[in-house]
Amino acid sequence: MEHQNTVEWNLKDGTIMLHNEKADHRLLLKRYDFIFSFVDEMNRVLGEVPVMMVFRKVLEKCGAPKEILENVSVESAGKFVDSLIVPIDIQNSIIPDDVTWDGKSRTLDYLGTNHWRVLPVSFIQSFREALYETLTENGTKAIVREATKKAGIGMANQEIENYRWKTVEDLVDEQDERLYLGTFAHAGWSHSRVFSKKGDDGNYLFLSKISNSYESEGVKENGKPICDWLTGYMDGFYNGVVNKLSGKFVETREVRCRAMGDPYCAFAHKVKDNKKDILDWKQIEGAWKELDAIALSPAA
Ligand SMILES: [Zn+2]
Repeated sequence: MEHQNTVEWNLKDGTIMLHNEKADHRLLLKRYDFIFSFVDEMNRVLGEVPVMMVFRKVLEKCGAPKEILENVSVESAGKFVDSLIVPIDIQNSIIPDDVTWDGKSRTLDYLGTNHWRVLPVSFIQSFREALYETLTENGTKAIVREATKKAGIGMANQEIENYRWKTVEDLVDEQDERLYLGTFAHAGWSHSRVFSKKGDDGNYLFLSKISNSYESEGVKENGKPICDWLTGYMDGFYNGVVNKLSGKFVETREVRCRAMGDPYCAFAHKVKDNKKDILDWKQIEGAWKELDAIALSPAA
């Protein structure tokens, strides 16, 4: 037996762990089509040669061997990541019932419809570092937010169809169970819950409390929120759903982050009537300060 890799989903924790004789690694899932559209977005903005430089840096940071570094491509990067994870000993792993995985490749089915890809959290972290070095922090944020927002809108359209949401109230009623306790936990993104409040303007403010975001896992404090993949994704998701069901728009901010020394990450998603309306975030900050007092209880 060449490998003794096992995986362990912990839905209460929102984590997926890979165990082998050498170490434990946190894993996460990303949708297959998102990874391709993210690479496309980078190619579009940067051009293919700089994108390969980014990949080379990522592989270096992840400790890829010389023969991989000498011949960097999307395929060789994929093969290297394969070697870190598969094959998985499925019999001795803990996998939720609604996840189907043969453990031979990094592609799996969740809920029977979507193709998801398994990645190490350290790979995403190295990706961010490599992008920061190549593009600066602001350049990285722009690319990441653009690509993740598109993915979030795509997910919104799919969820509206899957769950037959007709009004924003349907989202309010079901988002905690479907998105946070469902997708986020299954994808190993975090344990998280969401709270909805209606403001004086009659529009909702959604506050999501994320206890262990994969993006801020083990990240050094630097005074700024760091979870841009989640920010973009959720901004796209909420805009997608709210716009389709009510014609309104949503603004999203990460208002707490472990990278700022907070004990958890949190996002505020404020609904507004028009795209051009300017929100006074100071006026609503009391709402997310209340999150500190709310215990993040796991699913019943
Ligand atoms: Zn964060």
